[in-house]
Amino acid sequence: MPGKKQRLTIKRTTITNYWKSRNISITPSWDNAANCCWICGTDNERIRLDRCHIIPEVIGGSSKDPSNFVLLCQICHYNDPETIYKDDY
Ligand SMILES: [Zn+2]
Repeated sequence: MPGKKQRLTIKRTTITNYWKSRNISITPSWDNAANCCWICGTDNERIRLDRCHIIPEVIGGSSKDPSNFVLLCQICHYNDPETIYKDDY
């Protein structure tokens, strides 16, 4: 349905495994990538880690393809609204 958001079903480990296999370097180590923000590297457990679309779903980005996701803390997610839109899942 246009305009209706769906809950994300993709797992964080699916996202981390995809990017790990592509040899992309990120701020935290890959050992901890499912628990750290990929921009600032925070692993503060009180800050929720969001699964963020790279290409927003509203303009055709996939919500099932791990190549369209990164993991960011809520602060980095909020600070980068131009390229990564907020998911309320
Ligand atoms: Zn962050």
